[in-house]
Amino acid sequence: MFEATIAGSLPKPSWLAEPDRLWAPWKLEGAELDAAKRDATLLAVKIQEDAGIDIVGDGEQARQHFVHGFLERVEGIDFAHKVEMGIRKDRYKAMVPTVTGELRLKGRVHEMEAKAARAHTKKKLKFTLPGAMTIADTIADRFYGDKVKMAMAFADLLNQEARALEKDGVDVIQFDEPAFNVFMDEVTVWGIDALHRAAAGLTCTTAVHICYGYGIKANVDWKDSLGKEWRQYEDIFPALAASKIKQVSVECRNSKVPIDLLALLKGKDILVGAIDVASDQIETAEDVAATLEAAMKFVPKEHILACTNCGMAPMRRDIAAAKLKALGDGAALARKRFG
Ligand code: ZN
Repeated sequence: MFEATIAGSLPKPSWLAEPDRLWAPWKLEGAELDAAKRDATLLAVKIQEDAGIDIVGDGEQARQHFVHGFLERVEGIDFAHKVEMGIRKDRYKAMVPTVTGELRLKGRVHEMEAKAARAHTKKKLKFTLPGAMTIADTIADRFYGDKVKMAMAFADLLNQEARALEKDGVDVIQFDEPAFNVFMDEVTVWGIDALHRAAAGLTCTTAVHICYGYGIKANVDWKDSLGKEWRQYEDIFPALAASKIKQVSVECRNSKVPIDLLALLKGKDILVGAIDVASDQIETAEDVAATLEAAMKFVPKEHILACTNCGMAPMRRDIAAAKLKALGDGAALARKRFG
């Protein structure tokens, strides 16, 4: 009960990539970069273990960004000529690559870090992959001419890598779908289908993460425009509840999402976001336990896990470590108090 886990990314060490930013450029190249990614992965696992995190991840140390880390290993994409595109319904502009041909995996995507993490921890291991809808919203298309068709092609590639990760000994595979909160109407039409396609045949635990994004300015401004109550989840939770995905990761801490909406996810394990990634203020164990307690009013406690609101990639490393510790301690406190 109240197992602690993380949404996905952790900040990278400054010897691996430029600190305190998203899309951080690597500091090394070639074989040196490969070795550094592996070292940083082991460190990320260790930091989580020390903080009392029960289901650990690779901290996404080996990828520059949660979407493009996957895309780099896909054939049929032109990375040389990036184009500017408004993403998440034009919330911000990003330089994105373009699909120019049939999509195919060049080989494994996350084998190195999955095997490295698996070899060095006895804890349950979680791996994140971008969701097909979010990928389709983070890339330009000059080949498929149809967003859904392209997304389904990506879902097949995600499935290929997910099955391989399962063979590597990964216990939980999570698809990150922040786009679900933006294209709510499309989630029911094809988003869940794409999710199922990406998760087809998996026997490990499956999860989906939906959120209001990292604590970068464009996201903070967007959140400010959403009004007093954020009810986007209300439109998509019933469809997720009816899906085959076992766990749903959502943001709760310092969020304007009415917590009673969690009741719409009946039957699912909920990864309750109890750590705000958009603030440098470090939560206490009491804060974390209080967030879990609030969720308990709408979710049976045996279905609650303690999690971060979102990835911590752009955060200061010492602050992220302190927040992880609060998460581990808070989950333990909740177990003692409500278990
Ligand atoms: Zn997120």
